[in-house]
Amino acid sequence: MKTRTIKSIYNELKKYSKIHYKAGIENRQDRPYWKWDTVFDCRSCETCKGLHGKVFMWNDPIWTDYLPPVHLTCRCGVRTLTNAAFIEKGLEVSKGSDYYHLIEAINDIGGIK
Ligand SMILES: [Zn+2]
Repeated sequence: MKTRTIKSIYNELKKYSKIHYKAGIENRQDRPYWKWDTVFDCRSCETCKGLHGKVFMWNDPIWTDYLPPVHLTCRCGVRTLTNAAFIEKGLEVSKGSDYYHLIEAINDIGGIK
């Protein structure tokens, strides 16, 4: 696929991501736990694999600093969870800044800089 096409897809995904972010903010009272969700397969980069399934609170700075997609071929998104779902799944809250090094280490196409 041409880089220009990939970039336009990325820009569209970024736009949708921002729309979902705004909806998430509006629903933060009911769904305060936000889970990093990626397509986990052989095409996933180490950064996205490292973030997959991590839960950060809705107001963790990671969502304003690194709202996915985080690189051109990133297929990550955010899944918001209710308190009941969070407890039922036995999840834990992480601190976004503990994962910044993973994101900052990648280049535009998901490789290591
Ligand atoms: Zn990703």
